[in-house]
Amino acid sequence: MLSRFFLLALTIFSISLFAQKETSVFDIPVFVYHRFGDNRYPSTDIPVETFEKQLKFLSENHYHVIPFGNAVEKWMNGVPIPDSTVILTIDDGYLSFYENALPLLKKYGFTATVFVQTETVGGNDFMNWDQLNRIRQAGIEIGNHSAEHFHFVDAGPEMVRHVFAEDLQKAVLAFKAHLGISPVIYAYPYGEWTPAMAEVLRQNGIVAAAAQNSGVFCESSNAYAVPRFPMGGRFATMEGFKEKIRMKALRVVESSPASPVVENNPPSLVLKINSAGINPHQFQFFVNGIKSENFTVTTGEGLIGLNMQVAGALTSRRTLYTVTVPSTDGKQWYWYSHLWIVRKLDEE
Ligand SMILES: [Zn+2]
Repeated sequence: MLSRFFLLALTIFSISLFAQKETSVFDIPVFVYHRFGDNRYPSTDIPVETFEKQLKFLSENHYHVIPFGNAVEKWMNGVPIPDSTVILTIDDGYLSFYENALPLLKKYGFTATVFVQTETVGGNDFMNWDQLNRIRQAGIEIGNHSAEHFHFVDAGPEMVRHVFAEDLQKAVLAFKAHLGISPVIYAYPYGEWTPAMAEVLRQNGIVAAAAQNSGVFCESSNAYAVPRFPMGGRFATMEGFKEKIRMKALRVVESSPASPVVENNPPSLVLKINSAGINPHQFQFFVNGIKSENFTVTTGEGLIGLNMQVAGALTSRRTLYTVTVPSTDGKQWYWYSHLWIVRKLDEE
């Protein structure tokens, strides 16, 4: 009798878990900005006029702009996230955010998430702790972006855990001392991460981390490598913004390898993709934005296999393999990208 009751309870519990998952499917474009109206650094800058146009577009089209941590909390608690939700994130804590972006966010009544590396706070070109306290009071979320903003993967597979954990502790202490908080969200410097780094974050109470490979945050995203679309330099246009905002996440069930660090150069990538709603004959593959035909598609029960190659060894520190595909009715596009990091190569 007791065991039958137990089984029944278990069934109800499983059904409710399933139901919860069903209702919490979401697609959230997350954008990453750096500088605002600072033409000394065109590759990471967005002109103030373009940024304002983007906010105006979000306002006129009734988008929900929520902080990254809030979206993560909803996701983890199975709280439904409405359609047309967008996240605006800003890395590095530059002064141009305070001077040029904050007034516009206030004007349109939007929030954002600013990821700060603690060692440069108060330095030339960066916000100081007093300004960071003020933006918090204005409803801006603060996230951890390391202490030293190192290329942590260069420490190598043996040392990365140690070096990264030490830097994280340093940043946590600074946040506690100056803001009285310890952010539970993180953004990797340069978007560079490894599974070992993700594990260090998890062990230290960080619940989610943003990467910098392009893509859409969805219910099947890796919580420790949430994709973001760049909004600086050549990407910082109104057309690009409108295109990305309509984008859906390609649901990748399995990625081999899972780690971005290149072990064999050139690397190949094999993805297993949930085939629901997508047209398997129209996959597009891009290597750092350049279209390539060097891939094969295999279709199976509910899953599509995608195998991507490049001809020669990767010569940039970071290379992005991007996959896009339309829906069966052609009205919708899906996006996924994988970042490759070749250790110890210099930034370009
Ligand atoms: Zn950064």
